[in-house]
Amino acid sequence: MSDFAPQNVAVAPEEKFREFLATRGKRLTQEREIIVREIFSDHEHFDVDEIVARLDKPQDGRRVSRATVYRTIAQLEEAGLIRKVARANDREVYEHDYGYPQHDHFICAKCNSLTEFRNEEISAILERVALELGFRMSGHRLEAHGICATCAKPPARRHHKLDMI
Ligand SMILES: [Zn+2]
Ligand SMILES: [Zn+2]
Repeated sequence: MSDFAPQNVAVAPEEKFREFLATRGKRLTQEREIIVREIFSDHEHFDVDEIVARLDKPQDGRRVSRATVYRTIAQLEEAGLIRKVARANDREVYEHDYGYPQHDHFICAKCNSLTEFRNEEISAILERVALELGFRMSGHRLEAHGICATCAKPPARRHHKLDMI
């Protein structure tokens, strides 16, 4: 669930990635570019298999292999363009860490849903604590665990056979 509009960034994610790869002596190959474009085409949280599935059909006459998707996602994480968001289950979910506003998360232990929210008071508290500890904070991503509103609702009443008499 991503309710925030992406921020305008001066440099496109592909360009940021190209710069990062250059520092490693690597190129932004066509496959890597296709993957970055796909990942940044929407701001939903995603896992690697979802991206593999979305790129299953040939793109511009090119097929992107599963291995390339895995490698590229690891590189995007290293480049600071995406980050892993912890979840209640073992699935590794990523989100954009570039061009996306500061926010925090509620993670449901029952349905694994991820709710994003923004709260200025949380930022203010963290800034105060950082100041006290002499910590130079560049950002935050809180992950609060619990049960979401839907899962907390009592189950719908079952129809008893008696009701039909
Ligand atoms: Zn839930
Ligand atoms: Zn998020």
